[in-house]
Amino acid sequence: MSGFPRETSFSKGVSHFDSASGDGSIEWDWSAKLVRSVMKQAVKYYLRFSDETNITSLPKPIEGRSYMLYIHIPFCITLCPYCSFHRFKFHQETAANYFRFLREEMRMTAALGYRFDSVCFGGGTTTVIPQELAKTIDLAKELFDVKDVSIETDPNHIDPENLEYTVGRVDRLSVGIQTFNDKYLERIGRKLKFGSGEEQYHKVEEILRLFPVVNVDMMYNFPGQTAQELGEDIFTVLKLNPQQVTFYPLMYAPFAGHKFGKRMGKAGYESEAGHYKLITQMMGEPYIQRTSWAYSHKTGTNIDEYVVEHQEYVGLGSGAFSFLDGTLYANSFSLKTYADRIAGGQTSATKSVAFAPSAINRYRMMVEMFGLQGNPAHKPFIEYNALRLLGAVKGSGENAVITPKGMFLLSVMLKCFYNGMDYIRESMRRGLTTADERIMNISSLPSD
Ligand code: SF4
Repeated sequence: MSGFPRETSFSKGVSHFDSASGDGSIEWDWSAKLVRSVMKQAVKYYLRFSDETNITSLPKPIEGRSYMLYIHIPFCITLCPYCSFHRFKFHQETAANYFRFLREEMRMTAALGYRFDSVCFGGGTTTVIPQELAKTIDLAKELFDVKDVSIETDPNHIDPENLEYTVGRVDRLSVGIQTFNDKYLERIGRKLKFGSGEEQYHKVEEILRLFPVVNVDMMYNFPGQTAQELGEDIFTVLKLNPQQVTFYPLMYAPFAGHKFGKRMGKAGYESEAGHYKLITQMMGEPYIQRTSWAYSHKTGTNIDEYVVEHQEYVGLGSGAFSFLDGTLYANSFSLKTYADRIAGGQTSATKSVAFAPSAINRYRMMVEMFGLQGNPAHKPFIEYNALRLLGAVKGSGENAVITPKGMFLLSVMLKCFYNGMDYIRESMRRGLTTADERIMNISSLPSD
């Protein structure tokens, strides 16, 4: 293949950020360490789920509130070693049956009175059976008046069959690339699975104009990754020019990632700060930073950080979470239990944890500031002013803005939060047997 952009003097893109803000103090210093250790404790303290309880139904929606819908598809053709998401190895019959139960769960949710403007399908790989996905999207539009559909996929599922079922149905397609560098693709097991960086680049290039928004997910801070290598990745993304780009720091899941991390090596905190700074410096025109992690074209507004935009959400499918009226619910991670519960007319949520209003305030402040709101609607006095003292916010009241250092501190905080959620996922997956990976009782399959 030809035309794969490589740039060795990537530093020529650097400039807009330092000169614009006058504050480039993104360092792994004592304040980042402090934020990390406070967050780790907070996550441990707050994310304590009840033992399996007999939750029979999610609460009804509260009038005047808006909700978002998240739907989880827990299947992948092959499993990446570092991945902390809830997923099983793809099995055609199980996945097809799963979609039937999922649609039944959607009907149950509509019967409770929920309506959603937007739906986000995540996984796993949402496009494992494109016909089933399309049917499920159509039902979401019919039941909930959904206007905006977002799905995640991987480079292998950018093919004519998938495009036939997604173009025209999906408003935002998010493709997990992680890196275009073959050395790191190989180390994280994605080169064999999804092809070289060059092949993946051309796949995404071909679909850029087929969807209103294409997002490319990138990862940084691989052990040993140099600024030069990251710069080349950023340069490649800039050349590709998708409508959105999200840069996540590498996170090892607490258990699954442990073995993998041993092989890969430690991802350093110092380098995380340096790499973060490089990304913010290089992601200039035509992009604007929308959250601590996400960039989009200046003319676009579609960001899928649903935790930022939506205070409450309903999660359907095995392993999904809902946050409703101060309570976080976790759906069963066993496909068998999931199907049995839906067949019995029960919610798939089996665990929950309720939060006090003060804890919700803290959580909302974190996600609003992660969404770069210097003057968040939720401002617990101590926490907000502590972040101000650390230099995360400049100015006051309506004029308050998140500083570059603040963007990094919020990135550190969200990483800790997602680590906590990974811990819960892994705890809930522990003890699953092969029976939990299949939907056995097909006599209870809902009619479609
Ligand atoms: S990283 Fe993506 S493709 Fe790999 S196992 Fe996880 S969800 Fe599946």
